[in-house]
Amino acid sequence: MTQLRRDPIRGHWSIIAPGRTRRPDEYDVKVIKPTLEGQCPFCPGNEGMTPLEIDSVRPSPSEPDSPGWAVRVVPNQYPAIGAQDERHDTIPASELFRVRDGVGAHEIVIATPEHGRRASQFGVDQWDKVLAACQYRLQELARDRHVKQVMLFQNHGAGAGASRAHAHFQILALPMVSTALAHEVLNGRSYFNRKECCLFCDVLKSELGFGVRVVSEDDAFVTLAPWASRVPYELCIMPRSHRASFLDIGAPERHRLARHLRDILHRLEKLFGELPYNWVLHSVPVREHNPRIFHWHIEVIPRLGQMGGYELGSGGYINSTTPEAAAEDLRSLAGD
Ligand SMILES: [Zn+2]
Ligand SMILES: [Zn+2]
Repeated sequence: MTQLRRDPIRGHWSIIAPGRTRRPDEYDVKVIKPTLEGQCPFCPGNEGMTPLEIDSVRPSPSEPDSPGWAVRVVPNQYPAIGAQDERHDTIPASELFRVRDGVGAHEIVIATPEHGRRASQFGVDQWDKVLAACQYRLQELARDRHVKQVMLFQNHGAGAGASRAHAHFQILALPMVSTALAHEVLNGRSYFNRKECCLFCDVLKSELGFGVRVVSEDDAFVTLAPWASRVPYELCIMPRSHRASFLDIGAPERHRLARHLRDILHRLEKLFGELPYNWVLHSVPVREHNPRIFHWHIEVIPRLGQMGGYELGSGGYINSTTPEAAAEDLRSLAGD
């Protein structure tokens, strides 16, 4: 019989369909390169093709907007948020049809100067540099009083929404709290109000007790296949030490994250070869006052299939690989 599982953190229901369980080699994994052709604006020498840089990591001194960088942060040329668009000014809103100005920011973190290098192929040192640059930008953007949430994510492959092949991460500063984060905050708060402890810490403790969904662990981070995984081989990277915000972590923990994240992407590529994926940072909303209700983490979402009518129509998921099988497959691989 199939099993319905409720996610304790996110609140959705997933149907875990063991009769349909597929093994890693049964997924038809293709990474389709993004279709944008021509010169790559993210390559060294083409700095003039992007808006002026906001920040960069330069191992030896060189001018802004010139080659020599290891990481480069630029405004998104086509921002999802933070751009003026007068076309909206004439469209009426109402109590039913609410509207709010799209204030905020949308930045691109060009994660390597090397065009063909995937994030899974970065050294720990490069990961560390990129994560430090991201953390700094998130901290800066969170200072704006309009900003309620800062997001960091990567799309890899056209199947995961990437429009450029050159490895880059995206940062969004939002004037609202996204639905996904709001659900986690709500569940975290109600659990805290009942039990006076952190929902996420308790989930982590239970998962370490069961062990069957643990993929990898070190002294700072644990990666799990979540109990009610939405898609096959979905993963969650959780820091062991309770902190609500990624913005507050120190350099040693960030360095451990660099190592851990690299290891997880390696494992996925060992199992599937190059695959499309997204990873998304979940950090507490910037105006949240109680740091005990939330615990920052990273969701890793391999894109092995498409969403169907059930998913779009119900807000729930049908997952054809049990999280236990996914964890076992990934656990048996050494990342490095
Ligand atoms: Zn490039
Ligand atoms: Zn916690």
